[in-house]
Amino acid sequence: MPPAGIGACHRDDYELQSGIGSDARMHITRITVFHRDLPLYKPYRLPGDRPLVDSLDSTILRLDTDAGLTGWAEGCPWGPTYGASHGRGTRAGIAELAPVVLGRDPRQLDTLGDAMDRALLGHHHAKSPLDIACWDILGQATGLPLHTLLGGRATARVPIASSIPIDSPAAMLDTIERYRGLGCRLHSAKIGSDHAADVDRIRRLTAAMQPGEVSFFDVNRAWQPHQGAAVMNAVRDLPVFFEQPCATLDQCLQLRRLTCHPVSIDENLETLPDLLRVQRDGIGEIVNIKINRVGGLTKARRLRDVALAAGMGVLVMETGGTVLADTATAHLACTVPPGAIIGSWACQDLLTVDSAAPDQGARNVDGHLSAPDRPGLGCVPDADRLGPPVAVYEI
Ligand code: MG
Repeated sequence: MPPAGIGACHRDDYELQSGIGSDARMHITRITVFHRDLPLYKPYRLPGDRPLVDSLDSTILRLDTDAGLTGWAEGCPWGPTYGASHGRGTRAGIAELAPVVLGRDPRQLDTLGDAMDRALLGHHHAKSPLDIACWDILGQATGLPLHTLLGGRATARVPIASSIPIDSPAAMLDTIERYRGLGCRLHSAKIGSDHAADVDRIRRLTAAMQPGEVSFFDVNRAWQPHQGAAVMNAVRDLPVFFEQPCATLDQCLQLRRLTCHPVSIDENLETLPDLLRVQRDGIGEIVNIKINRVGGLTKARRLRDVALAAGMGVLVMETGGTVLADTATAHLACTVPPGAIIGSWACQDLLTVDSAAPDQGARNVDGHLSAPDRPGLGCVPDADRLGPPVAVYEI
């Protein structure tokens, strides 16, 4: 029985029918979708009593063209409650977008992104792997690595931030010690429970930092403004920053007016207008650009440019995934200059499985990610690790 989704798609887009771009010599002819569950070494809990995450639902995408080039990408939300996305939604979004993407030139990334936006409102997490796979093809077509196409490598090695789930201070310090073994010197510690426990976590973890180490505190939307103000003002003597303290930008702004620490905006950064508001209203000094959440490298690149022009600190991360996702992250992250880049993340360090051979893509080397110099993404998954496709769309 053929996998669900196999079938012909018809190009019914206005631009294609009208002949715009008809001189292009490359067309996307097939979209192949793979689904992989990615078990974590250890179940992970986000603040706010959200369900444990013990496995991620990842979608790996292959785009084929009539020029013989193949692009790869991955889209992997961090469970269904981190943001407004989930794995099955990624694959449903790709099914919705396939008729728009098929037949297009993968090298015309802004045009393709505009077409996806006209065809489907929002759903950035479904558009992201389609966009990244097109970047992979553009890189191969030009013989250039993505970091060159994205503006050029400005930082040789990007620090990887650890990811420390909320727990007792002792347990969080144990996890930090494990990450020290991987070379990590930047730590993202999750907080967001009651006032006394959060203050205790912040003080004990900050006191345990070794020379050259930095810890910041990620609330993942768990505080109401009054709760955040109580905690942050209780540690106003500590030179730390906080990430995504409240659920909305309005709440983060309320909190900002009551406190003095720098703030990073993560989950609320989905679009360029979001970033403009963060900067205009002084809600945060740092942004965490998550490629999957913002719709791919094309849109993440715009966010990077505006953040740098505004003098903001920048984190570049993915929402989850294997080395395929981390490699796209590494390409963009290394284009951010040393004075602005704070760090990245390597979800692969949390997984019991991999999608590619060890020589593929960006790996954790002494706590840093370095983008490959091969043309394109520089990461090709291993067919034996993907299993059969769950959907194929073609013309
Ligand atoms: Mg965060």
